[in-house]
This record gives sequence, structure tokens and C-alpha cells, in this order.
Amino acid sequence: MRYKIPRGTYDILPQQSYKWQKLFADFRKLAAAYGYAEISTPMFEQAGLFERSSGESSDVVKKEMYRFTDQKGRVFALRPEGTAPVARAYVENRMDIGAAVKKLYYIGPMFRYDRPQAGRYRQFQQYGIELIGSDNPFYDAEVISILWFFLSGLGLKNLRLEINSVGCPNCSQAYDKALQEYFRPHFSDLCPDCQVRIEQNPRRLLDCKVPSCKEIASGAPVQLDYLDEDCRIQFAAVQKHLELMEIPFTINPRIVRGLDYYTHTAFEVVGGSLGAQNSLAGGGRYNGLLEQIGGKSTPAIGFAGGFERLLLALEEEGISLGDVPAPDAFAILIGEAARDAFTPYLNALRLKGIFVEFDPDKSSFKAQLKAADNRQARFALIFGEDELAANSVTLRDLQSGEQKNYSLENLDLLAEAIRG
Ligand SMILES: [Zn+2]
Ligand SMILES: [Zn+2]
Repeated sequence: MRYKIPRGTYDILPQQSYKWQKLFADFRKLAAAYGYAEISTPMFEQAGLFERSSGESSDVVKKEMYRFTDQKGRVFALRPEGTAPVARAYVENRMDIGAAVKKLYYIGPMFRYDRPQAGRYRQFQQYGIELIGSDNPFYDAEVISILWFFLSGLGLKNLRLEINSVGCPNCSQAYDKALQEYFRPHFSDLCPDCQVRIEQNPRRLLDCKVPSCKEIASGAPVQLDYLDEDCRIQFAAVQKHLELMEIPFTINPRIVRGLDYYTHTAFEVVGGSLGAQNSLAGGGRYNGLLEQIGGKSTPAIGFAGGFERLLLALEEEGISLGDVPAPDAFAILIGEAARDAFTPYLNALRLKGIFVEFDPDKSSFKAQLKAADNRQARFALIFGEDELAANSVTLRDLQSGEQKNYSLENLDLLAEAIRG
């Protein structure tokens, strides 16, 4: 029996992992500079958390969630998104006590049973930010700016930030009415799900993926035209702060978020080569979520993006994330006595953070030198009988061929030379 990887998943192989590490490190560094701390939640939660937060009629819950029952009959789900788990952790750990706002970020896999296609997988790696505890529009702009500077900082040029306001429960009443009036004459052309949604939740018609529904929805009224006074002021303030941060944006009244708990600001960053622009990340305010899952009413805003699509966009724009790291030095140890004597120094150099490679399966000088070349090591550390007698090592620059002797008494000098 030969086993195969599950459809819609992938292995990150060693020659690719440095790219992921760089993206993770860049995101962590930027988030930390803005005062955000990492939070990790389990990969599975009670299924009810997602049913409650996303709405039982949402596609995510109905069609895309990996659900399972454990040995005691409890129903869990692999997390399809990161916001509800973070909100759950916020409520459960009483994070409302103390500092007024909690600035959080996460990196981790999410799971959705979806049709696999380019940049879309059943297990996908997400990065996200959640700011909980304030509805100050400054934070809307701050959260957006982290996303913007993360993506543009990687060198992506074809980026576009689109923002919208999806209003609040107060202004969505008038909007829902306008939508119902718009969709009712099209009733018989809508998919069965949408025929139900008209009365239950007309805004969900706007992100139906059925082509006929999509076409009808493209002419529907937009929330932006139905904002109340407060929501208009809030949205104007977000735009002002973005301008102060010199972040270019366009207003796209067609942006809706796929989940029920979003309010006010919604945004998306699209990127990739022209013509085939893709949503790289998106987010928005979710002032309604915490109360919905049993917490106190608490304003919050966040975003999430997928690393897979980001890597595709980087590739399309020809942006390199560097190379597979090559060894700083390759140890060429000739003869058993030399090999034994050098072993502690090999470790000592590695403990100083120097990437020293050694191949114990090769013994001749020639074979070891060839291995050093193959690995594209910068230096060879040559240690044979002469060096053993002199308690020194020969450092050879493998590009220029220059070489110099270093005493093993003081490894710092040698380490410095290798670091350059
Ligand atoms: Zn409103
Ligand atoms: Zn539909």
C-alpha cells in the first residue's frame, strides 16, 4: 500500500520551507512593531462556535466545514477561519479585563472542504490580525495599514486596496428592505438557497456563487447608499486616517464579507498579475461577533490572508524570497584522528550560529571538497594532520581560493572571519 496525500493539501518540502519561514518572520516582525502579540488557538473547536458565528445557513458551515464526532459523541469542526476561535479565546480567558484593547495576530492552518484550484486548498495557511476592544476608526486604518505594508513590503507592485462600509444593524434594516424589493421580482431565477435567503437574510444573496444569482446580484443596491449618519462619519474617518498614512485606496461598494458578523468597514487587497487579479486578503469590523458567541458587546476589527495565494502573486510578479540557505562553511576533515579532534569545534561553531555542514559518509579530501562545492558553501574548513599538529584550521574561500590559518584556541576570530 502506498499512501497519498489528501486531495487539496500539500507538503512544504525542505527546498521550499525557507520561503514560508521568511513570510512568517516578516509578518511576525511587522505585527510586533505595531504592538500585536501572537495568539494560537486549537485547530479544532466545538462545531457550534462556527455555526453560531458564521450562521448555520452560510456556505462555510453547510458545505465547507470538516466536522467530526469524537469518542464521546461531541461534535467538533476543524477551524474554517481564525476570527471566531480568537473571539472565543478572548471571551473565555477574560481578556476584556485590563488593557482596553487587545492587539492579536495569528498564523496557522485553516480547513475548508472546497474545490481545489490554483492557490486554493482544503488545508491552507493563514495570517491574520484581530484588534478587540475599540471602535475608534484609527484602528480600522491601523489594521489595514499592517496588511498593506506587509504585502507592499514584500515588493508586490500590482496591489490595490479596496474599502467599503457594510453599515451597522441600524442602517442594514433599510438596506435589507431595499434588497428584498430588488430581488423579489427575480425570485424564480434565484437558486433555491437564495429563495430562502430573500426573507431570512437578503445580504447573503450578494455572495452566492451560483452564476445566475451572481448576475442578478450585480445590479443590486449597495449598502453604502443606505448608511446612517454615524456610519457615514465613521467611514469618512477611516478614509482620513488612511490618507494620513499615505495608503492608496479605492472605494468598492460591492465588497461584502462572507460572514454575518461584519459591520462598518470592510476591505480587501487584490493583487497578482493584471487581468487575473485575486483577493490576497480581506477583513473588516465585526462589532457583533463577541456578543453573538456569548461575550459582552465588544467592538473589533481584523483581517485574514492566505499564504498560498500570496506566494502565487509573488511568483507572478517575479519576486524572489531569497534562496535555499547555503552552508557558511563545509568542514573537510581528513583522517580519523583529525575527525575526532575536530568534532567539538564543529559543535562550538554551530552553537555560535554558524551554519557548518559536514558529511561523515565521505572520507577523501577530494570527495569532501566536491560535496562542499555541491552545497555551494562559502568556505571550506580544512582540518588534516598538519592542522591537527598545529591545533589550527585552514579556512579556504571557495570562490577566490584564498586561504588562511586560524588557531583553534580562539574560535571567535574564526567565527568572525566566516561571518565576514
Ligand atoms: Zn449604521
Ligand atoms: Zn443563489
